[in-house]
Amino acid sequence: MTLKEELLISVEERPEMAALVNDALGALQGCGSLREIEDARVRLLGKKGTVTSVFKGLAVLPPEEKAVVGRIGNLLRQVIEEEVDALRRNIEHRETERRLAAQTLDVTLPGRRRGIGHRHLLAQVIEEATRIFVGLGYEVAEGPEVELDYYNFEALNQPPYHPARSLNDTLYVRRPDPICDDPADIMLRTHTSPVQVRVMEKRRPPLYVISPGRAYRRDEIDATHSAVFHQVEGLAVDRDITLGHLKGTLEVFAHKLFGRERDVRFRPHYFPFTEPSAEMDVSCFKCLGAGCSLCKGAGWLEILGCGMVDPNVFGYVGYDPEEFTGFAFGMGVERIAMLKYGIDDMRVFYEDDARFLRQF
Ligand SMILES: [Zn+2]
Repeated sequence: MTLKEELLISVEERPEMAALVNDALGALQGCGSLREIEDARVRLLGKKGTVTSVFKGLAVLPPEEKAVVGRIGNLLRQVIEEEVDALRRNIEHRETERRLAAQTLDVTLPGRRRGIGHRHLLAQVIEEATRIFVGLGYEVAEGPEVELDYYNFEALNQPPYHPARSLNDTLYVRRPDPICDDPADIMLRTHTSPVQVRVMEKRRPPLYVISPGRAYRRDEIDATHSAVFHQVEGLAVDRDITLGHLKGTLEVFAHKLFGRERDVRFRPHYFPFTEPSAEMDVSCFKCLGAGCSLCKGAGWLEILGCGMVDPNVFGYVGYDPEEFTGFAFGMGVERIAMLKYGIDDMRVFYEDDARFLRQF
């Protein structure tokens, strides 16, 4: 027998309580929310509730009636508690079902397109230059960006007080202290060439190496200068390397990077660590050599510096200049990207404006 059946039988002993029991049970019918259930529970079982008043009335009843009325009151309270619990569980279950239904995955919905990034234009140019030289048999070497004076200047044939050292252009991390005897400067490398010295110091020829990376100078930032910039540097050392190898290698590079139709020319130049030295030009992208504002009427654009490694540099790393010869070259990545893509202000490379970057 359920509690409810027991209650209905007991009520037959006190018919005057039937209405109260029916009303109490009816109050729970039609409760559609947890809130309504709680309100009904308080109305019935709370301090001033209907069922509570039954127990309050017991005091004035004669003892033989107290037992019957008290039992009916207890049964009614238990039945109400049971029903309240059952109703609550029901509602919670329905809400869980509704929530799960709302979460159902509709596999027929169209997908959402995610914005996928890509490599920065400078990284792309570095990658392209690297790929060309790796295709020619070169390997990639990297070195520290915080560099010793020895590697950045001295071993590249620029001893202290050499006129080609431009102290005003260098970002020093530590200057020598005139009192203690540690004269070594530490600086942010002003070019990627120190990597050449580091590689030669550790290995013997044949060497075919390129080193892409960042370099630093104390430049005011404007359309054509930046305190941080990128270079790709190259070095070949072997027996019987000639200026012809240098020209042939860089011509192949220029044709692969800028297109077969470009002409290339070499102009004599000066660098402290190469002798002889040259700058390489390619015919202007815009006017194809006729002369325009990009090439300032010259028909040519300078794209890199190069030369045969100075025998003095070999002296620093213990190579015999009678046995080995070599060539070196270096180019500014920003400059090449600007020329190749017609960009006239270097600052756009560093401003992280997605509208600019997305074009490449
Ligand atoms: Zn031009």
